[in-house]
Amino acid sequence: MACPVCQSPSTDGVPLSNGTVVHVHCLKGLTGSLSTSERAVSVRRTRVARMRAMLARWNTTIGRIERFLGRIADLEDLESRIAAAETALLAAESAQNDAESLLLEIYDHMLEYPPDWAARSAAVRKRYVVCSECGSDSMLQAHHVVPLSKGGTNRLANLTWECTRFDGHLVKSILS
Ligand SMILES: [Zn+2]
Ligand SMILES: [Zn+2]
Repeated sequence: MACPVCQSPSTDGVPLSNGTVVHVHCLKGLTGSLSTSERAVSVRRTRVARMRAMLARWNTTIGRIERFLGRIADLEDLESRIAAAETALLAAESAQNDAESLLLEIYDHMLEYPPDWAARSAAVRKRYVVCSECGSDSMLQAHHVVPLSKGGTNRLANLTWECTRFDGHLVKSILS
């Protein structure tokens, strides 16, 4: 089976419910490159916003007069720098999206609680106010509908919100 990150054969690492195994160092590298690209996106976004604000200022009447007097630089130059910064931003965003969707796909299939379990659990909680089995409103937890051991995923579509107090639920939660 191939590691979903580096595509080379892997038997040692974090096993996933879709039968693949992700190398520990690949997973670490992926989370690292995600945060790097998130930072790059934020830096580039700020840069584009600043230049756009500058362009808007330059397009006012006073800006036009200043340009006419040669006090500020050429408008076309600024526009082309904005275009370049926007291209760089798009590239960073696409790198971020790629890393993010690969990581989510891995988390979806993790056989143990994924690192973003709290966020997934909170999202399920928003959909169900009470236990989906008995209507109770206490001791509630997110549960897998199809257990991970049976090929279920950590995707929201496979999560439900149930209490743990009754035997039926308890058995279900242990199995999942
Ligand atoms: Zn790998
Ligand atoms: Zn219940």
